[in-house]
Amino acid sequence: MSFTIFSDTRLALARDSLAGLSVGDALGSQFFVPGNDPTDLAAGRLPAPPWSWTDDTEMACSVVRALATAGRIDRDALALAFAGRCEPYRGYGPGAVTILRLIRTGTPWPVAAASAFDGQGSCGNGAAMRVAPLGAYFADSTARAAAQARASAEVTHAHPEGIAGAVAVAVAAALAARARLDGHRPDAARLLAGVAGTLEPDSEVHRGVRRAAELRDRPLTEAVDALGNGSRVTAQDTVAFTLWVAARHLADYPAAIRACVEAGGDVDTTAAIVGGVVAAYAGVGTPGGVPTDWLAAREPLPAWLA
Ligand SMILES: [Mg+2]
Repeated sequence: MSFTIFSDTRLALARDSLAGLSVGDALGSQFFVPGNDPTDLAAGRLPAPPWSWTDDTEMACSVVRALATAGRIDRDALALAFAGRCEPYRGYGPGAVTILRLIRTGTPWPVAAASAFDGQGSCGNGAAMRVAPLGAYFADSTARAAAQARASAEVTHAHPEGIAGAVAVAVAAALAARARLDGHRPDAARLLAGVAGTLEPDSEVHRGVRRAAELRDRPLTEAVDALGNGSRVTAQDTVAFTLWVAARHLADYPAAIRACVEAGGDVDTTAAIVGGVVAAYAGVGTPGGVPTDWLAAREPLPAWLA
């Protein structure tokens, strides 16, 4: 089935996804602050505001800004935007800081991205953590979402697994946003199968997403054991787990974020990915969507996004 989405609707879906991504990032990162205990969130107690967002949100804002101005990803422009807006204290990994510094000082992005990790390119979770709003924007075409996600990933992540992670998250967000538009929530198995079908079959991310589908009714601890929780900060260790959580809790944003916090690991990034996918379906300020008091506790998004 295909249908037309007007540009205002695309952007509204992307902005809802960004709200979910940024609140997940900002709330998740609170659990690296000493004194904030994950069990408090499970008991309904929120950390004291403001919740500062991190690199996940900063880069996602550049993706949304690119779509708002051009309607598509121009890799050269996106590379320069990522590099120019990078505030290293926002929790960027050392590999990302190096690539973005090279781009900022004139190295072409294909050279900078390929130079990472002794020439293998990055398979980190950075391309996946920023891409959910792009998927929501292309809710009418998983093929377009996948192709544009690949373009957005390549400027920093040359490794096939890093790119596959971004494609998987974008397609999940596209399917979530499409389900919101047509009013049919996909069950977890169907959503995960839809994602797996767009991935290279020989990738670890693909195998992980298929495994996530098999584990869809299993407890959280079992999913973490099998899929990871982002603690190795690779796409392989992060993406399948996040899509397992999002598929399970697609209509309940708070439950989805609580699952990420309970799982531990790279919580700001797992909660950013999950939040971006779930908010594409559940919305903001709606039943099951991003709670308005959580949104109010998040540090305001950068002024340049407007
Ligand atoms: Mg982060």
